[in-house]
Amino acid sequence: MTCSAKFANDIKRRVSEVLGAPEDFVPLHEPEFGGEEEALVVDCIRSGWVSSVGEYVDRFEAGIAAACGTTHGVAVVNGTAALEVALRVAGVRPGDEVLMPSLTFIATANATHHLGAVPHFVDADEATMGLAPNALRAHLEHIAERRHGVLVNGRTGRRLAAVVPMHVFGHPVDMNGLAAVASEFGLAVVEDAAEALGSALGGRPCGSLSRIAALSFNGNKILTTGGGGAIVTNDPDLAAWAKHLTTTAKVPHRWAFFHDEIGYNYRMPNLNAALGVAQLAQLDVRLAQKRALAARYISAFAGLDGVKVFAEREGVRSNYWLNTLLLETHMTHARDTVLKILNDEGLMARPVWEPLHTLDIYAECPRAALPVTANLAARIVNVPSSARLAGNLR
Ligand SMILES: *Cc1c(COP(=O)(O)O)cnc(C)c1O
Repeated sequence: MTCSAKFANDIKRRVSEVLGAPEDFVPLHEPEFGGEEEALVVDCIRSGWVSSVGEYVDRFEAGIAAACGTTHGVAVVNGTAALEVALRVAGVRPGDEVLMPSLTFIATANATHHLGAVPHFVDADEATMGLAPNALRAHLEHIAERRHGVLVNGRTGRRLAAVVPMHVFGHPVDMNGLAAVASEFGLAVVEDAAEALGSALGGRPCGSLSRIAALSFNGNKILTTGGGGAIVTNDPDLAAWAKHLTTTAKVPHRWAFFHDEIGYNYRMPNLNAALGVAQLAQLDVRLAQKRALAARYISAFAGLDGVKVFAEREGVRSNYWLNTLLLETHMTHARDTVLKILNDEGLMARPVWEPLHTLDIYAECPRAALPVTANLAARIVNVPSSARLAGNLR
């Protein structure tokens, strides 16, 4: 056996052990319905309130804001739409540049593009897998200029409007460090908290760590509404504007159709919100299950050279959305063998996203040097992480 194959088999044995030697295929992340989902969805159907109006939307918005420790929540059709609207109300305009990690899901860049703005990629931090404050500062010192009081990218002349930190796989990014850089340069901060519902930094929930945040309730996230997203904020004006924009920007009136801006039809249907209300009631149970599963992975891999399980650092709480094996740099060559052997065994495993700056569609976008991004991208293997794999906790 080659050295890679032996290493990959050692990993397979440990993953299989953590999961209790399963016989069937184990997906990466499955939704879990353990509460009132069916009853509330049936209630929507029987009442006829399935679409764009209904009490579940209001209840879900209040619940998601409470879970994030914010005063306001606006439920929308998906996380990408949530990000787009959050960026817009935070002041991003067509032609602006938005700083973001390259190591993120495509939605972060797509939402920016759909606003007519341009993604601008900055490097990651090995300690968090998210945006590195030092790399952001060094890059801005290099390229940013003030022209007539406006912060611009000196190379492109475009305004630098915002930065979008993302909590990779639920691990909180160094938001304190990033906020300090953002305030030094006068950048808006919009949190992509799509993966981080239930995570916290210094006791403050993800979603409440910047002026405005976007969440996702896609089928593979810790809670799901089928498809869905939300904007959360403590700013009543931003919340009201986001709500207005996502509901066609109609001026309230008993019968007349006046629209005072070009809005969107991004509102979450009541049917999906009903699912969300039932799911939210189980957030604490899901978090306990996911953290218990992560603890099992961490101890199972404690003695194996060449790889570690990415664990929460001191002062943060992770929701461990996706468990991550981080290969040591000298074992990078074995990654594809690890992926093959795990998947052949029916233990679903995936690499991280292709860094966005390497995709043809975003190849022209401005970027900083991205050495940590390239290094991390070659070393990450995600392993099965559904809450149910922890079993019933007692
Ligand atoms: C899931 C996700 C989103 C939003 O995705 P939708 O599928 O549109 O709900 C945005 N950013 C990140 C990092 C995500 O993981």
